[in-house]
Amino acid sequence: MAHEIRIPIAVPLFIAGEEGKSAAGRRFQRENPTTPEQVVSISEAASPEEVAAAVAAAREAFDRDVQGWVSNYKLREQVLYRTAALLREHAPALETLLGLEVGMPRRQARPHVLAAAEVFEFYAGYASKLYGHALVLPNGSLITLLKEPVGVVGAITPWNFPLTQAARKLAPALAVGCTLVVKPASYTPAVTYHLLRLLHQAGAPPGVVNFVPGPGPVVGKALVEDPRVDKISFTGETETGREILAGAARTLKRVSLELGGKNPFLLFADAPLEAAARSLVFGAFRNSGQACGATSRLLVAEAVHDAFLEVMLPLVRALRLGPPLDEATDLGPLISRAQQEKVLAYIALGTEGGFRLLAGGRAPQEAPLRQGYFVEPTVFDGVDHASRLAQEEIFGPVLTIHPFREEEEAVALANGVTYGLTASVWTADMARAQRVARRLKAGTVWINDAYTQPPEGIWGGYKQSGIGRELGPYGIEDFVEVKQVYTDGTGLVQKPHYRQLLAE
Ligand code: NAP
Repeated sequence: MAHEIRIPIAVPLFIAGEEGKSAAGRRFQRENPTTPEQVVSISEAASPEEVAAAVAAAREAFDRDVQGWVSNYKLREQVLYRTAALLREHAPALETLLGLEVGMPRRQARPHVLAAAEVFEFYAGYASKLYGHALVLPNGSLITLLKEPVGVVGAITPWNFPLTQAARKLAPALAVGCTLVVKPASYTPAVTYHLLRLLHQAGAPPGVVNFVPGPGPVVGKALVEDPRVDKISFTGETETGREILAGAARTLKRVSLELGGKNPFLLFADAPLEAAARSLVFGAFRNSGQACGATSRLLVAEAVHDAFLEVMLPLVRALRLGPPLDEATDLGPLISRAQQEKVLAYIALGTEGGFRLLAGGRAPQEAPLRQGYFVEPTVFDGVDHASRLAQEEIFGPVLTIHPFREEEEAVALANGVTYGLTASVWTADMARAQRVARRLKAGTVWINDAYTQPPEGIWGGYKQSGIGRELGPYGIEDFVEVKQVYTDGTGLVQKPHYRQLLAE
């Protein structure tokens, strides 16, 4: 069973440990983006009332400390370690599912599953280490700072890396004793539900993780507005993030947002060109560029512009589009017809703008690829940095190139967008690398690398790329409340501070 996928997959609601159906009989289908006539999953679509029931289940599990979930970190540690082990065991099935539902090539799906397992392992270790602080004041009183779980978390996840994005919310939230309601992206309900099943199988008590697929403006909105939800953890588009922040304001819940990016790759003249080219192509075209941290803007020192393109372009042109389940495939289809059309519209803007098309630029017309949502890896040179092509998140396989002369200009270009998620700096001069890294407005700066995200590091955005941090120790803080307990150590009847009001 762990290795078999039979489609279409029926994806239920999952509330208080029970699978369920939409009471109104609402369902939605997800097609295979490679062969769209094939249905991969048929999901139940939750109503606002069903979202409310899922929140009630999470609330009750938290407030009643179901099976010791909140109080017993050993239980939580075990569940997280078991989930990681199950993810590894189910990796072949999940790889296939990622190919069918997301269009993620197998060679990228495999590390994606393992990366999710690593996130669970990393945070399993945290479950037993949620130490607070204590301080004895000069008057003998004791201040204790306790770290407590924030409570019920609404996790709203995107489709592009469905397992790791969900894991980055679920694992730290569960490690500290929260309970959750998960709303998956409507393009990837089956793969997200597979993870939820594994958590259940690993021993998460009923009500600890609940699952409500359905449209964002209905299901996500209901979750955001429910006063019994203490926190929303969201990953998705900046525009959706804005709506979520506004929706959460009424109940003043905590919100963390992981949003879009338009990430620069700064290549200085002394950089090793072959190594930089491989890094750029990986960063820009992994998952067909549908990646928030994609290095989609190349800022290149004018002196090495031509030499670099000579090394980089053959790598781009050699990338193979193909069926995701084929080991030889480098780029799968985009997630949807709408996304394909959006990316092609940006490419048309580039051509109309007179920018130099160096690679790609079309949807393949040959069978069998033409039926899927494919777009060739595309490179434009000489792109006006003020143009939409350079400023907006395309979320597809499109790289723009912008030459620069001075370090100052490179930093200004790098910071010259509304986003601030990642940046990659390539140079042999470590003093320059450090100087530039400090000046970049980005949550992650890689020096001589791109797009690696170990769970020990952190992830999150400056500016309109988000609020908060995932992964690493900061990923825990997002799900923790800090409580002060002050214990008098003086035993005095008339304490010094009373004198402001009460005579001796
Ligand atoms: P999206 O359209 O914003 O959707 C994300 C999630 O929000 C989905 O589950 C969606 O549900 C839900 N949603 C939509 N409208 C909503 C509303 N009004 N209220 C509450 N929830 C709502 O983003 P996406 O297209 O799935 O993902 C791609 C985006 O995510 C890109 O911009 C990318 O940069 C960003 N991203 C950021 C990071 C990061 O770590 N910074 C990581 C990955 C992706 P439906 O699917 O039903 O619409």
